[in-house]
Amino acid sequence: MAPRAHLTNLYSKIKEEGGEQFSTVTIEATAPAEVKISYPAPTLCQVQVRAVLTMDPGPLYVQDGIIKGVTIASGEELVTFKIDLDEEVQARLTCTEGMPYRIGLSFSRRPLQDFYQGRVIVVDPGHGGSDTGQRGPVNLLERDMAWKTAGYLAGILEGLQARVVMTRSQDENPSWCERLAKVPADAFCFISLHEYGSRDTSIRGTAVLYNPASPGNKELAEAVLARIVARVKTPSRGTGPAAELAQLEQLPALRLEPVAITNWVDEGLLRNPYFHQKTALATVVAIKQYFRQRGQEHD
Ligand SMILES: [Zn+2]
Repeated sequence: MAPRAHLTNLYSKIKEEGGEQFSTVTIEATAPAEVKISYPAPTLCQVQVRAVLTMDPGPLYVQDGIIKGVTIASGEELVTFKIDLDEEVQARLTCTEGMPYRIGLSFSRRPLQDFYQGRVIVVDPGHGGSDTGQRGPVNLLERDMAWKTAGYLAGILEGLQARVVMTRSQDENPSWCERLAKVPADAFCFISLHEYGSRDTSIRGTAVLYNPASPGNKELAEAVLARIVARVKTPSRGTGPAAELAQLEQLPALRLEPVAITNWVDEGLLRNPYFHQKTALATVVAIKQYFRQRGQEHD
C-alpha cells in the first residue's frame, strides 16, 4: 500500500502563462494523494485531499482580486481546503510528481483583465530629480519611494493589458502643469503617488486623497484605502479632497499616501518590496471592484 501523504505546505502566487495571468494555490505533499474538487457555491471552491495535515492549519490570506483566502479543515481521512473567491472562476488542477508532490490549482485572472484591458491609466510618481520630497528619519526619500510603488502599479496594470501613461521618468521632475498635459483625452483614471510627511514624527499610516470635482471619488478613495490597510496592516489616516486633482475635472483621480515617511516605523515598511507590491495590487483590485459595483448599480 502506498504511504499516506502528508500535506506540508500551502502557498499562493500569481503566475503568467501564454500572456494570461492565473491566481494559483499550491499544496505540497510527501506523496501522491487523491484530490476532489467541488463548488458548494459559485465563489467557493472546495478541495478535498486524502491525506494527513502536518502544517499550520491557520487560514491563508491572499486577497489578490481573484482568491480571497484559503481555510483548512482537517478530518480523519480528508483535509478540506476552502478557497474563497472574488469571482466565479473554476480551478484547473495540475498534479506534479516529485519531492514534494505538488497539487496545483489555477484560477484565471480574466475578470480583472477584462476590466483593465485597453483602459488608459495615468500613473503619476510624485516629485523627482532635484525635488526629493519628504525625507525619512534614516535615509529614504519620498521621490524614490513614489517611483518604486509607481513601478509596481504600472507592472501590474500592464500585466492586465491596460495602457499605462507615466507622467515622469525616473530622474525628471515635471511641473504639475506638465504632468497634467500628459493625460490623454481617453484616460480612465489618474493615480498620483506620494508619501505623507510631518514635523510630528509620531504620525503614521495610510491616506488616500481624491479629486473633489469627480463624482463618487470620495467613495472610490474609501474603497482603495480600506483595501490597502487590510492588506498591509497600516493605521488609516483617512481620505480627503486633494485640491490640485480638481484640475482633472471629471476624471477619477486619487493621490495615494501609503505611509508617513517621517515616522521611523513607516519608513521601515518602505524598505520591503512586498509593501509596495501589495499596496499597488490592493489599489488595482479596489478600483476594479468599485467601478464594477457602481456599474451594476446603474444597470
Ligand atoms: Zn509628495
